[in-house]
Amino acid sequence: MGGKIVIDRELCKGCHLCITVCPFHLLQVSNEINSKGYHPAKFVDPEGKCTGCTLCALMCPEIAIEVYKEKS
Ligand code: SF4
Ligand code: SF4
Repeated sequence: MGGKIVIDRELCKGCHLCITVCPFHLLQVSNEINSKGYHPAKFVDPEGKCTGCTLCALMCPEIAIEVYKEKS
């Protein structure tokens, strides 16, 4: 079952904890800088590997990640 995430780039504080936990390495550091001056995480999943496991969202201290799962 596929999933996807949406990162609120303005809530993100650039701690990059989410990047360390994704089993498929689908999160990267963005080159952009948000209004708080942080490089937010970004979701890069060209092959649709995200399972919607929610690990990244559970790890995020800012609750900046929403996870969506496809209906089975
Ligand atoms: S864990 Fe949350 S605050 Fe930290 S980089 Fe990821 S989205 Fe941003
Ligand atoms: S929900 Fe799971 S698979 Fe998808 S980006 Fe987050 S940690 Fe990776």
